[in-house]
Amino acid sequence: MTPPVRRSRTDDPTPAPKPAAWVLAGRAFVRGRLQSVEIGISEDGTILSVGKVRSDAPRHDVGEGVILPSATDLHVHFREPGTAEHVETIATGTTQAAIGGVALVGEMPNTDPPVTGVETLADKEARVHGQAAIDVLLYASPTEPRSLDRLATRAGAFKLYLSPTTEIASPPDPAELGPLLARLAELGLPVSAHAEDPTHFSSSSEPRNPVDWDSARPPASELAAIATLLRLSPPALRLHVAHVTLPESVDRLRAAGVSFEATPHHLLLSERSRADALTKVNPPLRPEKTRRALWERFLRGEVPCVASDHAPHSVASKERPFPLAPSGMPGVETLLPLLLAAVRSGSLGLPVLAAAACDRPARWLGQPHGRIAPGHRAHLLVVDFRQRTRIDARRLHAPCAWTAFEGWEAIFPREHYFHGQKIVADGEYVGRPAGVVVRPEFASRRR
Ligand SMILES: [Zn+2]
Repeated sequence: MTPPVRRSRTDDPTPAPKPAAWVLAGRAFVRGRLQSVEIGISEDGTILSVGKVRSDAPRHDVGEGVILPSATDLHVHFREPGTAEHVETIATGTTQAAIGGVALVGEMPNTDPPVTGVETLADKEARVHGQAAIDVLLYASPTEPRSLDRLATRAGAFKLYLSPTTEIASPPDPAELGPLLARLAELGLPVSAHAEDPTHFSSSSEPRNPVDWDSARPPASELAAIATLLRLSPPALRLHVAHVTLPESVDRLRAAGVSFEATPHHLLLSERSRADALTKVNPPLRPEKTRRALWERFLRGEVPCVASDHAPHSVASKERPFPLAPSGMPGVETLLPLLLAAVRSGSLGLPVLAAAACDRPARWLGQPHGRIAPGHRAHLLVVDFRQRTRIDARRLHAPCAWTAFEGWEAIFPREHYFHGQKIVADGEYVGRPAGVVVRPEFASRRR
């Protein structure tokens, strides 16, 4: 295939429509429902048309498969740069994402060193190129006020921690939070907030299991942090709340019109799913009754986004005594497959999943994909809903080699097309690392 010729705008004021380089045909999720279509895809990996394609271009019919847009995972920790104990790199993390049907990840800034200035951001950008299987949007931490202006011209989004976390020990002083949120609103980038208020944390007894962990970081801490954010955020702030765990949080954020995400672990697991530290996460897993109420809101389409909060830790570190074990679990590879299985079983509607996993997260980050529509990037999946499987950590691709969803039913994408190029075939990664660092389209214009 010859590379497309790039023409300048001045010598070609009315460019001829680009011809389709190839056509993907079959039942596809288009405009809210499954319909039989032909998708014309350009040489450079853009969807040109959806419908009938009059073309002699090569055609791939997906047969019994269903064509879906690729997902966006707003929240991952690939821990590069970091120590060996973190057992993950941008290359291994993005490969798992590709296999799981994710075409873009938002990579969090609490690496070692944390991304708080342009130098650490540039270092991480350099690590993406030539390594990433899919695109990566880099969050920066707004902890150094003097770096904010320069960071805003280069980062993809900001991540604000309201409680201490790995590598970012001090959350903003409460008195400075309002001015900081106002400043972030002016800078125009999306801001994801970790909403736990540490003044509500309890240290009365040493936590020994996930039930104790829920008591140590109780629902009141989440509700207080969300109330603070809603009180102090200016309307112009492109705010998103990470990993909500409570039905009350859903109701309050929806009423305020603020974007937010829930993770598969908070939607599917509760504090009694396991007794050890494998399910130690921040914010904690909640009681089954709370989980079910969150899941019911998700089924009703009231949770705008799902995200994995992929945070792999070695088995050895998770086997430490509970108080010393790190928080977090892997999940980028199983995010979509777990929920596709829920669609297959009939509990979850495909339109709800496509909106929460594909369309809204991409839109929040200002990315032209997540829907099968002309002009969007051809980030596409072929899913065969008959190919049900059980999650088996030995067959996943995470170097940490464990999952809290062992034995759960899942449906992994059969094929994944990234910019129109096949990167997953028969569930295995067959691509080359062509992922780049992306920024919101609206932010690029401000640069
Ligand atoms: Zn996180």
